Amino acid sequence: MVEIKVLQNVLKANDAIAAENRKRFKETGVYVIDLMSSPGAGKTTLLEQTAKRLAGEIPFGVIEGDLATAADAERVAAHGVPVLQINTGKGCHLDANQIHNALQHFDLEGLQLLFIENVGNLVCPAEFDLGQQTKVLILSTPEGDDKPEKYPVMFQQCPTLVINKIDLLPYVPFDLDKVRALVRKIQPEGRILELSCSTGEGMDAWIDFLRDQVSRSVR
Ligand code: MG
Repeated sequence: MVEIKVLQNVLKANDAIAAENRKRFKETGVYVIDLMSSPGAGKTTLLEQTAKRLAGEIPFGVIEGDLATAADAERVAAHGVPVLQINTGKGCHLDANQIHNALQHFDLEGLQLLFIENVGNLVCPAEFDLGQQTKVLILSTPEGDDKPEKYPVMFQQCPTLVINKIDLLPYVPFDLDKVRALVRKIQPEGRILELSCSTGEGMDAWIDFLRDQVSRSVR
């Protein structure tokens, strides 16, 4: 029981700071997406491809969360995107306070969109509100088609699912119809985008989704 109370208190404190972050994002007119997935599903690659396609159209920034290194931040920065790296050490997820502190060193002015690339993990990031407007989950086909059943909380939390690496479907045991059906059960109103960052297939729908989200938030 004590452990449950501790966790509840941690989440309560987190939610209060997340609400402050959300207010700040709203005031500055920045639409914020918490991007989550397992390690290696393609979060950073999707951001790189997004940078190529949205350059000069929708100014966006990225906050990168990783246990160690600035490797992902460097990859994103190479595309001219303003980026800030948070290293969590042993932390398996970002929390609202880390984002709050990061915002003291990251200029939101002029941005319309901010991606927070969370630590690669399908468990802990699901529970921590960062102040984002929406959450996007990436599932890549080599991970297998059992993930919605095994990590239901994460799938419940994310109204948009990106199924990445669809170019590998002929080579990996991944039943796309099964995943679609499982996800619809968990998220009846959810959106599923199927794409490949390698071949570019499906990327237009992703970019249209971003345009739509940003223009709705501006209105
Ligand atoms: Mg990454």
